[in-house]
Amino acid sequence: MAQLGSENNPLRVAIVGSGPSGFYAAEALIKSDINVKVDVLERLPSPFGLVRSGVAPDHPKLKQAILLYDKIAQSPEFNLIANVTVGKDISVDELRGSHHAIIFTCGAESDRKLGIPGEDLAGSYTATEFVAWYNGHPDYRQRQFDLSNEVAVIIGQGNVAADVARILSKTVDELKHTDIAEHALDALAESKIREIYVIGRRGPAQAKFTPKELREFGELEDCDAVVDSSELELNEASIKELGEKSNIGSKKIYDLFQKYSGLATSGPSSSRKARRCHFQFLRSPVELVGDSKLERVKIEYNQLSGDPFKQSARGSGEFYELETGILFRSIGYRGVPIEGVPFHDSWGVFPNEDGRITENDETVPQFYTAGWIKRGPSGIIGTNRACSVATVASLLADLDALDTGEEKTGAEILYPLLDSRNVRYLNFQEWKKIDLKEVERGEPKGKPREKFTFVDEMMSVLD
Ligand code: NAP
Repeated sequence: MAQLGSENNPLRVAIVGSGPSGFYAAEALIKSDINVKVDVLERLPSPFGLVRSGVAPDHPKLKQAILLYDKIAQSPEFNLIANVTVGKDISVDELRGSHHAIIFTCGAESDRKLGIPGEDLAGSYTATEFVAWYNGHPDYRQRQFDLSNEVAVIIGQGNVAADVARILSKTVDELKHTDIAEHALDALAESKIREIYVIGRRGPAQAKFTPKELREFGELEDCDAVVDSSELELNEASIKELGEKSNIGSKKIYDLFQKYSGLATSGPSSSRKARRCHFQFLRSPVELVGDSKLERVKIEYNQLSGDPFKQSARGSGEFYELETGILFRSIGYRGVPIEGVPFHDSWGVFPNEDGRITENDETVPQFYTAGWIKRGPSGIIGTNRACSVATVASLLADLDALDTGEEKTGAEILYPLLDSRNVRYLNFQEWKKIDLKEVERGEPKGKPREKFTFVDEMMSVLD
């Protein structure tokens, strides 16, 4: 047989997941100096992962990454097999038989838990489900969020918490020309939420927002950003943290909190606008209380201890209660296992060394990983590019080991298997038809697109 990676024997790689890390892995393989064929498997009929169903609708610039993914998808070496769930429609072992290597780029689809009593009461939601709902993800289409409360609480101070708070803070006019799903816009139009509390377990110097995201709270049409100046006092270690040149982002965040503390006080009557978004620090929820649904949150004040950049929050023993019927836990995403692939349960990732999946410290032949399921849920879209490039470098360094002399036919052998299981898979050209229809549906409303939010609706465009 011809050498692996030659014209007559291309390296066949299956990529599981068509989010940013999947596309960047495909790009790195296609740009390499060997012959490759890349099959990208995607669970939904629509590609692009969190760029489609995670990035906030009012952040269209971030979605421009799709222009690059579209270009990658035009390469003759690229093939999308969408609407196929690996582990259900096709097994991991079958992919091992069809491809020389598999790169798992399936992201972090679940959430970390707070681990407190009442966490699962009605009215307590994860940020993940809310974000997926307003972005029209079919899995979350039927979710209902009780927006009839005046007070909403968000736990966590990262950019996902900022997205949730901003969507709750904005007026319908601010959202109606975005690609927000229609059902979400209709529900948000009826929202009674007026006071939004974004609560961090550590201090203002440790909030994980990025300055651009926090700055947007000073520019909202009908919502004031509120910070109580007494909450901005810093301990020695935090002063040192903010003095570090490399920590300029946190300094900018702190300056924004100071600006907001000078704008409005926390009393509703002093605010000009209909809504207020309060940023509060050094507090942790310890219990969600309610009979059949959330009625209030029991919160403990925290103290920080530890060296600069290693400070952690400890409960002070002082508590209060905040009345609310709706709470979002936004404390980080978490990967979910796939049958047949080793999983690190406490970290929620596929254990790996330089992108090579490992089990009991041994690398598992043919298995690689990139993106959030490789390194955990951190970083912006572009961070995934370097991560995928590194994984592909590991894979290409293993070329000799991947060449077992066995013939691999890639998608060619998967299609009859999928047909025999009545799985209606689609390719990138078919996705583009759905894409076009969404754009057409958006036009009369002045929206970039009106997303299909049911799988059947998407498939009916094709059939
Ligand atoms: P994140 O940035 O890691 O923030 C998680 C937040 O949850 C932190 O404030 C963290 O506090 C807090 N937290 C964790 N465990 C907690 C607990 N047990 N109790 C209370 N608070 C807890 O995660 P994320 O917001 O999910 O964002 C994930 C990644 O996506 C980030 O890199 C983010 O920048 C990126 N992202 C970017 C954008 C954008 O560019 N516009 C939008 C969305 C997301 P500690 O610091 O104390 O751990």
